[in-house]
Amino acid sequence: MPWLTGKVYLVGAGPGSSDLLTVRAAEILKRADIVFHDALVYPDTLRLATAALKIAVGKRCGRYATAQKFINKRLVDAARRFKTVVRLKGGDPMLFGRAQEEIAALQAAGVAYEVVPGVTAAAAASAELGVSLTRRGVSRNVVFVTPRTGAGETVHDWAASVVAADTAVIYMGSGQAASIAERLISRGLPPATPAVVVENASLPQRRTIKLTLSELPEIAELAMEGPATIMLGEVFAAVEENASSLFPQPVLAAVR
Ligand code: SAH
Repeated sequence: MPWLTGKVYLVGAGPGSSDLLTVRAAEILKRADIVFHDALVYPDTLRLATAALKIAVGKRCGRYATAQKFINKRLVDAARRFKTVVRLKGGDPMLFGRAQEEIAALQAAGVAYEVVPGVTAAAAASAELGVSLTRRGVSRNVVFVTPRTGAGETVHDWAASVVAADTAVIYMGSGQAASIAERLISRGLPPATPAVVVENASLPQRRTIKLTLSELPEIAELAMEGPATIMLGEVFAAVEENASSLFPQPVLAAVR
C-alpha cells in the first residue's frame, strides 16, 4: 500500500459568484495545497485558494476537455503528494458533474474523500427570478435533466421526464434549444408552456429571457457564451410580475 496522507475534497463552487460558496468550501479552499477546477469555476472563487497550485481540467461543451479517466488519475496521484486536494466543480458536485466516477476512482485507490455540496444552477436561477420551483397548487415536483448524452452512454428518454414534470430545469441544453422545443412539443408539452432561460446566474453579466416553449429556438440569436439553464413550467408564468427589474438585461460579455 503506498503512503497516503492526502484527502480529496469534491467541492461545489456554486453557480459563479464566490459569495455563494458554503463556508465549509471556503475554509477548505483556504488550506488547499492543490485545486483541480473546471472551466465553470470563476476567478474570485479560485483566488480564495491562496496557497494552492491551480490546475484547470475544465470541460465546456467539449472544448478544452481533459479526459475523465485522466482527471481521476490525477486526483489519486495528487493525494499521494499533497495533504489537501480539492476538486472544485461548478454548482453542486453531485449534479451533472461526473462526481461518481471520481469517487469510484478514489475509493478503488484507497484515497479518503469528502464531498462538499454547492448551490446548483437551478437554485441560483430560481432565486434570482423570485420564482419558487415548487408552488402549492401549481408544481409539486421538479426534474433536473439534461438532453446531453456522453460518448458510449445509452440514449435516455430525457423528454419523457420533462413532459411528466410540473417544473423542469434543463442543464447543458441551451446550445440545442430548437431540437429541445421540437422534441417536447411533439411529445405533447403545450407550445405555450412558460419558459425562462437564465444565463450566468449569480454573476453580474447574467441574462434572463422569458418566453414560451415554442419560442425557445429564438435564444440561438442571443449568442450565449456563458452557462445557461432552460426552465419550463407553469410556475414561470409568474416571472414578469416578480422580476421586472431584471428586464431588459444589458448584454455584456460572457465570462470565459
Ligand atoms: N454541477 C453543476 C452543473 C454542471 S453541468 C450545477 O450543479 O449547477 C453545466 C450546466 O449547468 C450548464 O450547461 C448550465 O446548464 C448549468 N449552469 C452552471 N452554472 C450556471 C449559471 N451560473 N447560470 C446558469 N446555468 C448554469
